[in-house]
Amino acid sequence: MPAKRVEIRASGELRKVMALHFEEIRQAAEEGKGKVAWCTSVGPAELLQALGFRVYFPENHGAILGTSRASADLIPVANAAGYSPEICSYLTSDIGGYLKGATPLKRLYGFKGIPRPDVLVYNTNQCRDVQDWFSFYQREFNVPLVGVSTPHPVPALEERHIKGVESQMEALVEPLEKVAGTRLDPGELRRALALSRECTDLWNEVLRTGAAVPSPLTFFDECIHMGPAVVMRGRQEAVDYYKLLLAEMKERLKDRVAAVEGESLRLYWDGMPVWGRLRDLSEQFAALRACVVVSTYCNSWIFDELDPSRPFHSMARAYTKLFINRTEQVKQEYIRRLVRDFRAHGIIFHDSKTCPNNANSRYGMPQRLSKEGIPTLVINGDLCDLRFYSDAQVRTSIEAFTEQLAER
Ligand code: SF4
Repeated sequence: MPAKRVEIRASGELRKVMALHFEEIRQAAEEGKGKVAWCTSVGPAELLQALGFRVYFPENHGAILGTSRASADLIPVANAAGYSPEICSYLTSDIGGYLKGATPLKRLYGFKGIPRPDVLVYNTNQCRDVQDWFSFYQREFNVPLVGVSTPHPVPALEERHIKGVESQMEALVEPLEKVAGTRLDPGELRRALALSRECTDLWNEVLRTGAAVPSPLTFFDECIHMGPAVVMRGRQEAVDYYKLLLAEMKERLKDRVAAVEGESLRLYWDGMPVWGRLRDLSEQFAALRACVVVSTYCNSWIFDELDPSRPFHSMARAYTKLFINRTEQVKQEYIRRLVRDFRAHGIIFHDSKTCPNNANSRYGMPQRLSKEGIPTLVINGDLCDLRFYSDAQVRTSIEAFTEQLAER
């Protein structure tokens, strides 16, 4: 009998917060009620919030395209325009959607099309693809493109890494002020940072509840509920949302409510989600009484370095310290620590074909961790491009892996 999945009550509020986010952007882009800045998912969102921009995240749009499985029709359109099938499938889904005039934002939030940017702001801390992605739109819309080039990969975080990033962030202010038509108010920047820090701390606390046995939430829940931490950080609404979600998770802890009924296995997910298979995977793990309790991906929006008293310095630290921007050794230690803290029985590495940046199985890490006694499984797939994903193969591998773990 399939295991019961317990719905999260806060989901209704989540939908409202996300609807507000998109409505503000729609009004700015389509009714002239403000300026729109496009930002990469770990770009300097706080600075943009402080300057009064409505901040739109194309990667979030990529995830929506993946989840709604629209990517299948859109990626080939970008491929035909010269964007390789082997580069980021958020990028190819998004650009394909633009070229075809297709976006679920029309149906979901009443947009006429993707929101026209007034400025494009990137940070290469995650990959180079984001810069090329935004360059496409710079040519299409003829708007300013500004950004930060972060040293990569960073071992231990040192001042020499931070200084350069900090001054690049400071250099963004002048061009952004020109587009915003206003001067940066240092008080507003401190306020945005304080809210972002509070949001990230609450999100961290939500994720940490997954360390309890049984876990009150799964990685698949987190992939949905991380929305405000990504797109609304720096806003009071995100803080309020995570207070609500955290209270619900604490209630579950008190009542020992398991996200996966009869939880008997606990797993770590490394790499990108497979957006078009979130539900299928969630159901398969639940049926196997296995709970994915922790992930690299959802932890990527914990910015514990943000400090309103040193805005630029702390943003530089927070956005350089990111897991994705670190050396193999730092990453391995990080994963090992989370496996221990969350009492995971094994790790599933998702080797996403079009995001080598966030696939950590390519340089021997699963083998090294296995030798240390942590069982690992590598599955091939992709974030949006399901041509690289075999349902049958993944299903069988997960079944065999969980059987092996159960025997141990
Ligand atoms: S990190 Fe990966 S998924 Fe994210 S934008 Fe870069 S290539 Fe795409």
